Amino acid sequence: MQEDKAQIPKQQKRRLPPWLRRPLPTGGSYQHTNEVLDSLGLQTICSNANCPNRGECWSRGTATVLILGNICTRNCKFCSVNSGRPEPPDKTEPSRLAQMAIQMKLKYLVITSVDRDDLPDGGAGHFRDCIDTVRQQCPDIKFEILVPDFRNCQTRAVEILRDALPFVFAHNVETVPSLYSIARAGGDYQQSLNLLKMAKENYNDIQTKSSIMLGLGETDDEVEQVLRGLRDVDCDRLTIGQYLKPSKDSLDVVEYITPAKFDFWKQKAIELGFSWVISGPFARSSYFAEQQNAV
Ligand code: SF4
Repeated sequence: MQEDKAQIPKQQKRRLPPWLRRPLPTGGSYQHTNEVLDSLGLQTICSNANCPNRGECWSRGTATVLILGNICTRNCKFCSVNSGRPEPPDKTEPSRLAQMAIQMKLKYLVITSVDRDDLPDGGAGHFRDCIDTVRQQCPDIKFEILVPDFRNCQTRAVEILRDALPFVFAHNVETVPSLYSIARAGGDYQQSLNLLKMAKENYNDIQTKSSIMLGLGETDDEVEQVLRGLRDVDCDRLTIGQYLKPSKDSLDVVEYITPAKFDFWKQKAIELGFSWVISGPFARSSYFAEQQNAV
């Protein structure tokens, strides 16, 4: 067993360690964020993934929009988003997103999507249309896109997104390669790295970003190898967070990582050359994404 990791006896699986217990903030702009999203019929990953930060982020007036529906063509066992056969892309979604950006006075917008293996471009064209439409109405806004792995169409998707000029191009490796078969069965670790590499090589001045969850049973060596692998493809930004079982059918948590260990990984990531790092139990891909500096 590794130091600093809290192995979880079976009978305690439901009991959270003290550092994961916190009140749910729902003040500030929470209600406004909720009303805007609701009135425009927009989905968020915050709600669909049961993100533990929803109270905090929405109270700060930020939310991560989930485009292309809330039915995913994959069935990853760490994720609570429903899987099945999605609807065709909704052509009204880009203008509803623009309305959201206006009503919430956004300066930074994170857009993500479900996996759309049913579409020839994996949904890249819809990402581009969303960015273009919002940018027409809010020219100064910065975009971060958190994209799927575009399994069957990486070259095409990278080409389509070239003109959308996001500020950050993010794709999550999610976990270490040895756990892909149980956590992310439809994914391929090397293919995910390849997408980040292609983005870096094809887009001028792009910041690339990835995320990894800890607590699924990975070893320290494996985590370090993932960090090194991401730096090998020049990935700039990283978040490292605690996996928390988002639904009863999702994978169990194997261990709770201590805050001290998250600090250790943050230092390691900085040493390896990441320029922007958020590492902590509640860190998620889009957590404080708009923050300019995070090292
Ligand atoms: S961390 Fe991201 S997904 Fe979670 S509530 Fe905040 S914006 Fe939403």
